[in-house]
Amino acid sequence: MHEFRPIKTHLFTPGPTPVPPEVLAAMAAPVIHHRTPAFQTVLGEVLERLPTLFGTQHDVAMFTASGTGAMESAVANLVEPGDEVLVAEFGRFGQRWAQLAERFGATVHVHSTERGQRPDPGGVAAFVAEHPAARVFFTTHSETSTGAVSDAGAIAAAIRGTGREDLMLVLDAISSIGAVECRMDDWTYDVVVTGSQKALMTPPGLAFAAISPRAFEHAQNATAPRLYLDWAKALGAHRKSPASTPFTPALTVVLGLQVALAMIDEEGLANVYRRHVDLGRAARAAVRALGFELFGPDDDSSAVLTAVRVPDGVDGAGIPKRMRDYGVTIAGGQDDLKGQIFRLGHTGYVNAFDSVLCIAALERALVELGMDIDTGAGVAAAQRSLVGALEGVR
Ligand SMILES: *Cc1c(COP(=O)(O)O)cnc(C)c1O
Repeated sequence: MHEFRPIKTHLFTPGPTPVPPEVLAAMAAPVIHHRTPAFQTVLGEVLERLPTLFGTQHDVAMFTASGTGAMESAVANLVEPGDEVLVAEFGRFGQRWAQLAERFGATVHVHSTERGQRPDPGGVAAFVAEHPAARVFFTTHSETSTGAVSDAGAIAAAIRGTGREDLMLVLDAISSIGAVECRMDDWTYDVVVTGSQKALMTPPGLAFAAISPRAFEHAQNATAPRLYLDWAKALGAHRKSPASTPFTPALTVVLGLQVALAMIDEEGLANVYRRHVDLGRAARAAVRALGFELFGPDDDSSAVLTAVRVPDGVDGAGIPKRMRDYGVTIAGGQDDLKGQIFRLGHTGYVNAFDSVLCIAALERALVELGMDIDTGAGVAAAQRSLVGALEGVR
């Protein structure tokens, strides 16, 4: 494999994602103490910037955890043993809500959507109407296991339209915040969670929950035990002046996130979202040109990652494995989808040229695996799509 030397590392996974050198540099500074003005200033700025990304005016609680920690905080603070809760799932991360709620002793009703599809808002609202005693509803924005991004606004509107103003709506936006728009307040979600290691261009280590005042109030009366994940503890400390945390945070990651959020701010959120749409279009054009079928919806909603069906007779798991030999990491399928799909991530510190490189590595792997492809067709399609986007002929 001498022709691949020097091996360069390129991450095209949906998380963790590539991190800008500026962020890494900020994290390489000597460790400071978290009860100092120097850190508290940074924390205050990060907590002030984050709500915009969620589309909320409400406060965001920070936990040192992976994204699942913020999901668990939502369940621990809202769900009591014996509660009826609802989950609208369309992949493995949606199933995690059901798993969590079961662990907390809830009776869970699940609405499932075919893998690769987006939930139908009307169908979800009808499911909700069947369970008038339910108090909390959980769903997913970007289902990272399939590439489908739900119309979270339409789902909430359909549910509210059935008269369920009281139902707490909780959204997993872990892979979508910073990639596609989230309008928590307009859409009437009570809680939205995310993590540092996806579209926020920061290493793993921090999880966030944006919490509406009524969700916070609901939590005050909820009896499930929690200490580390207690929203009141987290927000109590964040709301102090200067802002602080109840426990030692992954402060190095906070220093990195400050830089990443400033970069997102400088690019402008509208441009950030457009970049993800452009990268999604280019990837879909490339894999179509190579003769593949898409697994997720073939439209601009699929802006977080592109999930691709592996044709019969092709070693699906071999594609990511082979690409890793060149230093290029993509994701395969998980669980039932193992070997059936591969996933090209568009989040993190990835630009148009990087995404062409990803397709070049994919083509190389396919040739080495013996697939009969039109070499260069994928690269050309991606490049044409991206140059078109640049010229505004989208
Ligand atoms: C990454 C991700 C999670 C959380 O995974 P962690 O490994 O706990 O960070 C949850 N939901 C979605 C949709 C994700 O993409």
